[in-house]
Amino acid sequence: MKALRFWNERAETMSADELAAVQLEGLKRTVRHAYANNAFYRGRMDALGAAPQDVKTLGDLPRLPFLTKGDFRDTYPLGLLCVPQADIREMHMSSGSTGAPIVMAYTEADLAQWAECMARCQVMAGMQPGEAFQIMPTFGLFNGGFGFYHGARRLGLFAVPASSGNTARQIALMRDFKVKGIGSVVSYAARIIEMMDERNIELPDLKVGIFGAETFSDEIRTRVEARLGITAFDIYGMTETGGVGTTGADCAARCGIHVWSDQYITEVVDPATGASLPDGEVGEIVFTSLTRQAIPVIRYRTSDLSRIVSRQTCACGRTGVRIERITGRCDDMLIVKGVNFFPKQVEQALMEIPGVLPEYQIIVEEREGVTDIRIHVEAQEGVTGYMVEKHLKEKLGFSPKGDIFKPGTLPRGEGKAKRVVRANAGSAGLPPCNVGDAGSAGLPPCNVGDAGSAGLPPCNVGDAGSAGLPPCNVGDAGSAGLPPCNERLGIRS
Ligand SMILES: [Zn+2]
Repeated sequence: MKALRFWNERAETMSADELAAVQLEGLKRTVRHAYANNAFYRGRMDALGAAPQDVKTLGDLPRLPFLTKGDFRDTYPLGLLCVPQADIREMHMSSGSTGAPIVMAYTEADLAQWAECMARCQVMAGMQPGEAFQIMPTFGLFNGGFGFYHGARRLGLFAVPASSGNTARQIALMRDFKVKGIGSVVSYAARIIEMMDERNIELPDLKVGIFGAETFSDEIRTRVEARLGITAFDIYGMTETGGVGTTGADCAARCGIHVWSDQYITEVVDPATGASLPDGEVGEIVFTSLTRQAIPVIRYRTSDLSRIVSRQTCACGRTGVRIERITGRCDDMLIVKGVNFFPKQVEQALMEIPGVLPEYQIIVEEREGVTDIRIHVEAQEGVTGYMVEKHLKEKLGFSPKGDIFKPGTLPRGEGKAKRVVRANAGSAGLPPCNVGDAGSAGLPPCNVGDAGSAGLPPCNVGDAGSAGLPPCNVGDAGSAGLPPCNERLGIRS
């Protein structure tokens, strides 16, 4: 049988004219649907003096109001729903770091649309019907696990729904079932590699990795590909657009993310003013869905920063718009001593230092209004903090403090890696708490700089503590009868 190059060749290779006609029809339909069936959308459009019949061409899109993450939160749980609740067949939700969660609801047709987008991504990555695909994001409210699953079912893959965690079992599954492709966050691939190295394991059947939910540098991609013997793809999508893969992925030609342009219109706007930016300029990515029913998005501001790289046909034969892999998020940008940068740039610079490993954290400390940065990074023997400081100074123009950790000692979570940790001034009356540990003495887990859980204040590494508590040091056995505070207990299975 001839290998599939496209899942939906017609949709993926439409001419520009055909695509424009499909987009205009989808836009008109979506705006009419949202206006007729949802009070929030109707209120927003009325307030701006915009009516569905005003949308006559694609150029009318900027006349419509934006939708933001805040709007999703303010309308929790189902204030953006445009169909009767009885038509919902599935939901997903992302917790985010602050405020109410973000909910996406799916009708039967929305689930089919998601499966279609995911199947396109999986074929674009080289997966073929009948091949085994291991799904390593969590199956639950987070959309990752089910997204890969719906796509795998649609495409006819052998789905291995491993979900997250238990790295030893993940590796055994891949080996025993001759898994060809994996889906996960790239930081989890790094964890698999660690265990393969420790135990001297090879996975000769593996050929494809599809990684989402985290931005990652080309340097990390190259390392993961070399050790796993795979081609790695960057998949894009979020709860608000309908989940992983809905807004596309990159192809083997590596020239940007192919946004499924018959399904979503892409705009790039100035994050400060909302003004449309020309192709090539970096700004905030804004999506309008063209076929979604339950919760369509009209001009959704993603907070993701990127630019349109091309509208020409790609070497792979796909048409539609291509955007650069995401640089960072508007709210991720760090400013230290007047220098602006994104975590991904730190990663890129770190990975250029020989002996530095892919596990790192950027600790942001705010003291008396001054922001300072420390880099915690795992490295092989011989790498010093000075080497890290010097290289980052050259690459990024500022000199953070570099702390070197032995391989396997930084905290590891199960989902998205927590790369940026905000630390601030201590906590009141609490015993030391373990970084990345499940806590001790009956305390709930607590993460560095994290607001903790169960209403506990943050617990900071290296902080002198407060309210008369002894210092809480990483790797310290604790003191004064308090439970140990040990960063070496990061979850590793
Ligand atoms: Zn391509």
